[in-house]
Amino acid sequence: MNDLSELIRELSEMYDADSRDTYITLYINKDKNVKFLERREKACKSLLSGEEQKNFTNTMEEIKEFLNKNVGNTLAIFASHKHHFLTYAHLPIEINNSLIVDSSPYIRPLARIQDEWESFTLILLNSHYAKIFSVSLGSVDREKNLSSNIMNKHRKGGMSQARFQRLRKGAIHAFFSEVEEALEKIADKQIVLAGPGQAKLQFQDMLSKHLAERIVEAIDISIDDEKELLKESIHLISELEKRKSKGAVQQLKEEILKDGLAAYGFDDTLNAVKNGQVELLIIEKDYKLKGYLCEHCQLLKAGAIKNCPNCGSVTSEVDVIEEILEFAERTDAEIEFTDDEEIHNLGHVGAILRYK
Ligand SMILES: [Zn+2]
Repeated sequence: MNDLSELIRELSEMYDADSRDTYITLYINKDKNVKFLERREKACKSLLSGEEQKNFTNTMEEIKEFLNKNVGNTLAIFASHKHHFLTYAHLPIEINNSLIVDSSPYIRPLARIQDEWESFTLILLNSHYAKIFSVSLGSVDREKNLSSNIMNKHRKGGMSQARFQRLRKGAIHAFFSEVEEALEKIADKQIVLAGPGQAKLQFQDMLSKHLAERIVEAIDISIDDEKELLKESIHLISELEKRKSKGAVQQLKEEILKDGLAAYGFDDTLNAVKNGQVELLIIEKDYKLKGYLCEHCQLLKAGAIKNCPNCGSVTSEVDVIEEILEFAERTDAEIEFTDDEEIHNLGHVGAILRYK
């Protein structure tokens, strides 16, 4: 698991049962729309009172202090003064500015970025040089260089051609083993293999099965073309992600047709996700559904009702899709966002189930 999925998981478990306005979530492009924060802060503050307002003011102070620290331009920040909590993530793309005050951190934009910008490992190699990159959210997190003094040059006087070739082969094999060992330690779920000529294919052939299986593509490229390679592989991974998301909808359709391991529509999917049955949750990209949550008895429904039909307590308005997403994260379900029309027609949300 990479850092972002750990963060999303951690955020999905945070929840203040006593107050519905404890956590502030801020998605912000610092360069854009500087007035936005001031305006939202003022509006939210005026709607809160007592302890909640005090917590809001304190939390905003902490957030603004943090923003002044020059930590980056495009950020997601999650904070609560009451819970002594502040964490953030750098975002790879500009997103809509938003500030949300709620009983839990608002994770949907972050989960969507996580889905669209999958992390992967890139390895560039020839017979005597290798560089391994860990790419996360569209940029290089970590890199590792390996090289070996392989007899690339001419054989020494007196050595036969056959002996020279044998020694050279052995040396390359030893170098590849060393690279494999390094790769083993840091490899992500997806590996892109790159380099000039045959070396990468020889390397692929000698990899152990569980690593070889993760190779999604081999790119033919000069050893010096790092920049171009990064661009190309990020594009490749994003195309694969689109195909994966199409495949997920296809699989959902097939399961529904045979009345198999599927749930679809709001009520059905919510039940499944609450029971921990969901293997893969599929959400329509920009769809939000207004609903209400009773903090007292945890009743969650679409629609708008002031008092809980179950226990009579005052409810809070929520985006029920966000609530479904949080349940799914807590039970380690995979999440796919899609704009496929079929998910729209099936009720905007659906799931492949682990069991029924
Ligand atoms: Zn209730």
